[in-house]
Amino acid sequence: MNLRRSKFLTIILLLFLQTSCQKKIEFPASLMEMNNPEYLIKNSGPWKVNKQDHIIVYYSPTLDSGIDSLVALHKSHVDNIINIIGMSSAKLDSMPKINVWIFANDEEKYKKTQLHGIHAIGDYGSVYYPAEHSKSAHEYGHILASYNWGWMWNKEFSSVIDEAFAYYVDEGRGFDFSYIERTKDILSNDSYSISNILAGKKPFDLFANIGQKQEIACATFIKYMIEKYGVNKFGQLWRELNKNGRDAFKNTYGKTLEELESEFYSYLGIKI
Ligand SMILES: [Zn+2]
Repeated sequence: MNLRRSKFLTIILLLFLQTSCQKKIEFPASLMEMNNPEYLIKNSGPWKVNKQDHIIVYYSPTLDSGIDSLVALHKSHVDNIINIIGMSSAKLDSMPKINVWIFANDEEKYKKTQLHGIHAIGDYGSVYYPAEHSKSAHEYGHILASYNWGWMWNKEFSSVIDEAFAYYVDEGRGFDFSYIERTKDILSNDSYSISNILAGKKPFDLFANIGQKQEIACATFIKYMIEKYGVNKFGQLWRELNKNGRDAFKNTYGKTLEELESEFYSYLGIKI
């Protein structure tokens, strides 16, 4: 598993922890092999298939009765993010369909992918969901952002920008509370300021980061920047971060990260 692969294997860990006490299973192949679309089709079926504009949904036949609404929900996740990104029609036309794997439940998903909860693997253009967590648009955020703006390699900022974008597109879907109100609560505690999150210089850690507070706060920061300066500027920031690190904020917005953060705090009505 190379860096490119491991970077885009993303999970919401809350769901992971709910079921982590189950007994160990002997898996027939490695995690990457078992998540490979070819392997899944050949060895992990039976699958039914439902093709839509931007997605191909492979689903467990046990979901037959509710599949139309499930597919419509996933399609709406994609349409919503395409709309947020403002993806050009040229990009849209050349975009490969996303493989969507919907398992009957989390237990079946774990047996067939070695992972609980929801996850995505960029190299396979795939998102993986147990049916009961279909409300979340998170993994589509990762796939579509990287398709439109490229991979996010900058480790210092990956938790703030890449992960937070996936949280941002999940407001009103996987999370049904107001991000702004929640962020005011979170940032009233000094240890969760955007600056402190960055000062920790911690890349998003797959198996250690169980709190969602920093992601929600950063998602609200991103939402603020996209709504104030436009999504094209945000895309420019995304690309610049890979090249120029922290200078990307100044290069893109003409303002340092600290200046942007302070604007954000005024917007929220929080004193720092
Ligand atoms: Zn993620």
